Amino acid sequence: MLSESATGERFVLSVSRMTIHNGPGLRTVIYLKGCPLRCLWCSTPESQKANPEVAVYPNKCICCEECISVCPLEAIAVTDETVNIDRSLCNNCGRCVEVCHSEALQLLGQSWTIKELVDEVTKDSAFYKRSGGGVVISGGEPLLNPDFIVKLLRGLKEERIDIGIDTCGYVPWENIERTLPYIDFFLWDIKHMDTERHRELTGVSNELILSNARSVSKKNIPLYIRIPVIPGYNDSEENIRAICEFSQDLSSIVEIHLIPLHHLGKGRYDSLGRSYSIDDVPLITDNVLENLKTLVESYGFKCVIQA
Ligand code: SF4
Ligand code: SF4
Repeated sequence: MLSESATGERFVLSVSRMTIHNGPGLRTVIYLKGCPLRCLWCSTPESQKANPEVAVYPNKCICCEECISVCPLEAIAVTDETVNIDRSLCNNCGRCVEVCHSEALQLLGQSWTIKELVDEVTKDSAFYKRSGGGVVISGGEPLLNPDFIVKLLRGLKEERIDIGIDTCGYVPWENIERTLPYIDFFLWDIKHMDTERHRELTGVSNELILSNARSVSKKNIPLYIRIPVIPGYNDSEENIRAICEFSQDLSSIVEIHLIPLHHLGKGRYDSLGRSYSIDDVPLITDNVLENLKTLVESYGFKCVIQA
């Protein structure tokens, strides 16, 4: 049975060790569930909702029907030689996952204690020291719940771990302010400078995100600006110029990263019974990306195209 998070606050989607492209050096990334944005291009839809969710992988189903017998809500059926969940009935209790030995059903989002997370992260302390790395807390949005995150940050700092936060920036300033004593840098997403267009693409306005970025910069915390580059949505020269002009007022910027669209998350939408609305958007070409990189560099920024 799914239990309340041991932290009482956040569920962990996954912990990835030895990553690159998440700030300096080798980094362990802790992915937390729960995000206030709904970006059309999101490649990790399983990180959006705060609570655990059952993912379905029909090609692994062996039609044993064990799951049907334990579902208290009659939300599950095996038809056409595979399993189906009626999402309008399912409450993600996880009972079916416990009896599915073929892993056709998997529960996304687990409870970890702060100690378990710190112990996991410190397994690679020697690599952090050698590479100048550490940990990045990502999501979802890591700063949604300051009580949880401050406890985690304190635990990590007691182990002298370098800490980055990968944020969408759409949280109350108080949440960010409480974490500042522990944070070594932010990976900060800026998606669009036009407020209404930002709302159309992500579900929220960009005003709080931009105002928080200004406030963080005034505190001299290093900022890596990350721009997802989505053809036809935010890749216009006008938008990239506007982001650069905004960034020129942020004194603590280290680099600007361009992150090209990919469609690798489509299968994740399928497994959650959700639709991915932009799978017909073409991928950006290397040539266009290089031109955008040159444009960013013309403002004096170091610019990195992320794989
Ligand atoms: S328990 Fe797993 S393998 Fe068996 S019918 Fe259900 S989903 Fe398929
Ligand atoms: S997670 Fe959903 S489908 Fe599975 S047992 Fe619980 S209610 Fe039924």
